[in-house]
Amino acid sequence: MTVTLDKSVEDFVAKPRQLFIDGRWVDAASGKTFTTPDPATGETLARIAEADAEDVERAVKAARRAFEGPWSRLTPSERGRMIWRIGDLILEHLEELAQLESLDNGKPLAVARFADVPLAADLFHYMAGWATKIEGNTISISAPTAPGAAFHAYTLREPVGVVAQIIPWNFPLLMAAWKLGPALATGNTVILKPAEQTPLSALRLAELIAEAGIPDGVVNVLPGYGETAGAALAAHPGVDKVAFTGSTEVGKLIVRAAAGNLKKVTLELGGKSPNIVFDDADPALAIEGAANAIFFNHGQCCVAGSRLFVHQSRFDEVVEGVAGIARSIKLGRGLEPDTQMGPLVSDEQLRRVTGLLDSGRDEGARAVAGGARHGERGYFVEPTVLTDIRPDMRVVREEIFGPVVVASPFSDLDEIAAQANDTPYGLGAGIWTRDISKAHALASKIRSGTVWINCYNVFDAALPFGGYKQSGWGREMGHEALEAYTEVKSVCTRLQ
Ligand code: NAD
Repeated sequence: MTVTLDKSVEDFVAKPRQLFIDGRWVDAASGKTFTTPDPATGETLARIAEADAEDVERAVKAARRAFEGPWSRLTPSERGRMIWRIGDLILEHLEELAQLESLDNGKPLAVARFADVPLAADLFHYMAGWATKIEGNTISISAPTAPGAAFHAYTLREPVGVVAQIIPWNFPLLMAAWKLGPALATGNTVILKPAEQTPLSALRLAELIAEAGIPDGVVNVLPGYGETAGAALAAHPGVDKVAFTGSTEVGKLIVRAAAGNLKKVTLELGGKSPNIVFDDADPALAIEGAANAIFFNHGQCCVAGSRLFVHQSRFDEVVEGVAGIARSIKLGRGLEPDTQMGPLVSDEQLRRVTGLLDSGRDEGARAVAGGARHGERGYFVEPTVLTDIRPDMRVVREEIFGPVVVASPFSDLDEIAAQANDTPYGLGAGIWTRDISKAHALASKIRSGTVWINCYNVFDAALPFGGYKQSGWGREMGHEALEAYTEVKSVCTRLQ
C-alpha cells in the first residue's frame, strides 16, 4: 500500500512554487514556469517558476547587499546558532522532507528517511560548530629585505563573498546541505540552483532557512535550467565563487564560464569507481558490500562502485552473489513501503542508461543479471551485472549513473592497482580483504579522493569528500570544505 502523503506535502506540490530571492517568494521575471515529473509515472508532479539571467541578476544583487550588510554584522556565534537551527528544523520536518524527496527523485522513502534527510541535518549541525572556529595564524617572519626591522604578521581567513552553487538531482537535499553548510559557516552569501529535475526539497529548505533566522538575501534559491540559469550564474561577474556538482562535461563548461572574472571554482564531478575484492575477503560481507556499492540510490551516485574487480579464485562466487542480490531487488514507486529500488530520475537518464546497456550488449558484454528497462511505465531499469568485458568498452569507460556494474577478474596487487587507476576519474574506491597491510598498500596506490576498506558509501560530515583527476577540484565536508569558502589575507605590521 502506498504511503499516505502528509497534508503539508500535498499542499506544497499542489501550489505553483516560486523563486526565493532576497527573503521573498517571487515569480520569474520572464513569467516562465516549468514542471517536474513524478519519475515513477512520468506524470507532472509540480509547477515551478523558471529562473533565467534576469533573476540571476536580482539574486546576485541581493546576495551582495546581504554579504556587505546584515550577514557581515552578525557574530560568528550568532551565525553558528542559526546554522544549527537549520539542522534542527530539518529533523523536525524529517518525514515531510523525505516524502518530497521520494516524490521528486523517485528514491525509496525509507532511504530518504534514514540517509538523505538525517545526513543533511548532520551536515548543518557539524558546520554550525565551525562558524566560531575560523582562525588565522600569527607568523614569525625574517624579511631579508628589511635588515634589523621587526614585524608582527598574521593571517585572516575571510569569506570569499557571493557564491553560486549548482547542484544535481541524485541527492537533492543533501547536496544543498553539503554546499550551503560550509558557505554559511564561513560567512558567504549564496545563490543556489537546484537541478531542474528535483527542485522541491531545496525550495522547502529555503523556507526552513528563513525560519531559522538567516537574514534576507543570504540564501537565494533559483530553480531553472542549466543552460540558462546555471550558465548565467557561472559567468556572472558579480559572483566570486562557483561550486558545482554534476557531470564532468558540464564541470568543464563551468570552468570556461568562470574564467571571465576568474571566480574561484570547486567541482565535484563524475566517477567510475573501482571496487576490489581479494581472495581473503569475508565473502558475505564483500558480496553485500559490492551490491550496495553499485545499487544504492539506483547507481545514481557519483561514487558508485561501478567497476567490480574480483580475485580470479573467487570471481564466479562473488559475481553470482552480487547477481543474486540484483535479481532479488524489488523495484517500485519510492512511496511503496516494500520498494528497494525506485525509478531513475528522468526519461533522459532512462534513455542514457538503456543506450549504454545496448552498447555493452553490442560490444559483447554478457548480462548475468538484468540488462534492460523494467516495465513500460516510469523510468525503471533492472539492476544489472555485466561480465565478459574489455577495458575499451563504453560500459567500462563511461559513467553510467544507473544500477549497472561491470565485473572482471584479476590476479595480483600490482596489476589491480593499474587496472583500478585506468580511468580519467578518481572519486572513490573500495577494497575488501582481511589483510590490513595489503589493504593500506593498495589504498596508497589508488588515485582517488576516498578509499573505503571493508565498507562502502560511508559518508560523514567530518570526512572530506572530492575527486582526483577529472572527478573534481577541492573537497566538500570536513574542515577542508572551509578552505574552499575562505580567502587568506596576510597582514604585516612593522614594529621598529
Ligand atoms: P548535469 O551536469 O547536466 O547537471 C547538474 C547541474 O548542472 C544541474 O543543476 C544542471 O541544471 C546544471 N547545468 C547543466 N548545464 C549547465 C551549464 N551549461 N552551466 C551551468 N549549469 C549547468 O547532469 P545531468 O545532465 O543531470 O546528468 C548527466 C550525467 O551527469 C549523469 O548521467 C551522470 O553521469 C552525471 N552526474 C553526476 C553527478 C555527480 O554527483 N557527480 C550528479 C548528476 C549527474
